[in-house]
Amino acid sequence: MRRTPEAHPASYWAATAGAPPDLAAADADVETDVVIVGGGFTGLSTAYHLNQQGRKCVLLEANDIGWGASGRNGGIAVPRYKHTFPAIEARYGREVALDLYQVAHSALNILERIIADCRIDCGFSRCGHITPMVHQRDERRFAADVRWLADRVGDKIPYMLDAAELEDRIGTKFYAAGYFEPRGGGIHPLRYCHGLAQALEERGVQLFVRTPAIAWQRDQNGITVETPKARIRGKCLLIATNAYSDLTGGTSQLKRRVVPMVSSLIATAPLPNEVRHSVLRHGNLVTDAKRLTNYYRVTPCNRLMFGGRGGATSKESPSIYARIERDMLAIFPQLRGTPIEYRWSGRVAVTVDGFPHAGALNERVFYAMGYNGRGVALSAFLGHVLAQYACGEPVAAGPLTKGRFEPIPFHFLRVPAKQAAITYFKLLDALGF
Ligand SMILES: Cc1cc2nc3c(=O)[nH]c(=O)nc-3n(C[C@H](O)[C@H](O)[C@H](O)COP(=O)(O)OP(=O)(O)OC[C@H]3O[C@@H](n4cnc5c(N)ncnc54)[C@H](O)[C@@H]3O)c2cc1C
Repeated sequence: MRRTPEAHPASYWAATAGAPPDLAAADADVETDVVIVGGGFTGLSTAYHLNQQGRKCVLLEANDIGWGASGRNGGIAVPRYKHTFPAIEARYGREVALDLYQVAHSALNILERIIADCRIDCGFSRCGHITPMVHQRDERRFAADVRWLADRVGDKIPYMLDAAELEDRIGTKFYAAGYFEPRGGGIHPLRYCHGLAQALEERGVQLFVRTPAIAWQRDQNGITVETPKARIRGKCLLIATNAYSDLTGGTSQLKRRVVPMVSSLIATAPLPNEVRHSVLRHGNLVTDAKRLTNYYRVTPCNRLMFGGRGGATSKESPSIYARIERDMLAIFPQLRGTPIEYRWSGRVAVTVDGFPHAGALNERVFYAMGYNGRGVALSAFLGHVLAQYACGEPVAAGPLTKGRFEPIPFHFLRVPAKQAAITYFKLLDALGF
């Protein structure tokens, strides 16, 4: 299947990112060392790390740089996973949990280092991240996480917030408690993508946009990737197509390993001063503790950006955004009457075990994907992991590189299964299980 390149969605990020780097489609054959497919956070971080090691690489993006989840997300970067650390230890053992703690922090550090090294103007700031909750079960889970960090790794930085502290920080009486991670940070995700692509181009990396990898063939000496107008030849192929792995047949071996879930965002008009002071006045970022999370932040121009689950398919519908607006007003009744000026959606890649995965399809083809909505920081790390595969020096990262990541049985039933899962998770979230 060959698809026509698509424009960026009309998101707040697209409206404020400025012009994208001036990149062209591939129209002549190229010989390189490493071919990267996917021009989002993962592919760009991979190209960055290969370039740092002096390896020649070519990056192919079917649409525009940052067109996928990377240019549409909440831009919230946290040194955490979907699971708490005690839950990780209970499932995988202490050693793995300790390793994954290091990985989570090194991911955020790598992101920060790339931004500094490439001088990317994407508003990166470690402004602090809150995970608020309404149910006692979540409060116990996160309080256990605070204790785990202090006991196991001597990390006493995250702490619990009570309802009064949350009201001060978030500006709502909606929650009973919260977990505060002062090291969490935020970026303008599309500016980060543009800035990194620009820096890589200046450093000699060839990046092609509007260039889908349609198919690839392996032979004894390397890989040939077919694109509409050119063949790109390299010694190995790195695939970073995440929840958009179904765009062409070239990445079809991976599309059944993740379930694409839609996440949707709205952004209000700039908040009037009297309201602005009551909403996230310390500049923190928020992702709540529910299974079907809501996440939000205030933009530099004082809009509230608020996200949550989208529909069961990628089909746009006003009712999805109306529901997200209702969720926002339940938390911030003071925003009633504030117009919504942006609405957009993107795909999150969900995996069976809740972790992203990097690995090999064969000795020349590698992949990294499946961030479960936690890819802003972790993709910076997995870009490094992918680059190391190409250099023949694999990095071990517990379940991220060793866990099972097979095609999901009955993947073709994903739409009704997603509808059933959404209903089930909604019930669990409401009951606090
Ligand atoms: C609405 C939304 C909100 C989110 N919020 C957060 C958040 O606040 N914090 C967080 O940590 N994570 C968040 N995430 C998740 C995060 O955005 C992703 O984990 C991350 O962007 C994944 O990056 P990626 O480069 O792997 O994939 P993507 O950015 O999706 O990039 C994949 C790219 O591959 C390209 N492609 C696909 N097939 C081909 C092909 N055959 N040839 C060439 N190119 C191809 C696509 O065009 C696409 O641009 C959110 C995701 C969404 C959708």
